[in-house]
Amino acid sequence: MGVFNHAEFDNHESLHYFQDEASGLHAIIAVHSTALGPAAGGTRRWTYASDSDALTDVLRLSRGMTYKNAVAGLKFGGGKAVILASDKAPKTPELFTAFGRAVNSLGGRYVTAEDVGCSVADMRYVREQTEFVSGLPQSGGDAGGDPSPWTALGCFEGIQAAVKSRMDKDSLDGISVAVQGVGHVGVYLCRMLHEAGARLLISDVNNDNLDMVTSEMPAEIIPPAELLFADVDVLAPCALGNILTSSTIPKVRAKIVAGAANNQLSTAGDGARLAARGILYAPDYVINAGGIISVAGEYYGDSSEEQVRADVGRIKDRLQLIFDEAKSSGRPTNELADDLARQLVAAGQ
Ligand code: NAD
Repeated sequence: MGVFNHAEFDNHESLHYFQDEASGLHAIIAVHSTALGPAAGGTRRWTYASDSDALTDVLRLSRGMTYKNAVAGLKFGGGKAVILASDKAPKTPELFTAFGRAVNSLGGRYVTAEDVGCSVADMRYVREQTEFVSGLPQSGGDAGGDPSPWTALGCFEGIQAAVKSRMDKDSLDGISVAVQGVGHVGVYLCRMLHEAGARLLISDVNNDNLDMVTSEMPAEIIPPAELLFADVDVLAPCALGNILTSSTIPKVRAKIVAGAANNQLSTAGDGARLAARGILYAPDYVINAGGIISVAGEYYGDSSEEQVRADVGRIKDRLQLIFDEAKSSGRPTNELADDLARQLVAAGQ
């Protein structure tokens, strides 16, 4: 498949391919839009079956960042990077140093941070090469550092809003939540849900992560293939995207889907499929914006931790508006969120 006619191309401003022979780096940086500010979005390091899968992923993720940043009210456009993981490109300081040079070569059109497969430690190597990176440890009460706890907080409060809207309950006490993936975000989310009295079901392909959760709190471990279809109130996807499809949605038993994973819907039409089954879907890029809100505060240096907390607190209010509008208009929540995002981007152009 070509690039300009790629199904996910969607008017990307630019697309950049990088190779570094010494470290084995193969990376793609996609800049979807700089209408509202520099294109910001994390770096994913992942093993892709093919280059074309990596391209599809980065294009979808970067458009999602444009929408996420616009709806969150940030001075950021949307972009994303993927590093193609392989045996020939192990996770080394040299790999992230080379990637830092790649980010720097774009002169600030793209601002990166950590995403799946990358850590704060990796971003330190990127920072040695470029100032266009965020998500690094901060001192004192400054905003910044690992964005995952903020993403988890936005998701937690978003789940509270969804439970109120769909189940008319003010508390999560006794609410069952199936968390798919207990990595950086999932583990923080589990802690908050447990504190609030929720009953946890968890799955992960990494047993160490499962052990970390079960050593801290009660949680029922469900095989990864079954978790999506667990008989629960809330399904919280916190692993990878593309999980809600025409074949999986008919088997989902949760009343609510609300979690951190990007691109949970396989196609926009899957939002309508969920709505038709009475499943309330919290649009992924609205509910998972907590991390990028923290990243923006750190990058612009104009925010304290308290300010980030207040800004993340507005995620649930935005979701509430979308849930209310979905009820009154009968339209799927993902369509309402996409409309809002496009309007905001168009207004900024
Ligand atoms: P992570 O890599 O730390 O955690 C993902 C977890 O999912 C890992 O423990 C992994 O083993 C597990 N996993 C992978 N495949 C699985 C499967 N089939 N079933 C169950 N578990 C599986 O990543 P993260 O930073 O926690 O991010 C999780 C999701 O949230 C990603 O989609 C990411 O893009 C999205 N997100 C993260 C942030 C953030 O602040 N970290 C912000 C916005 C969105």
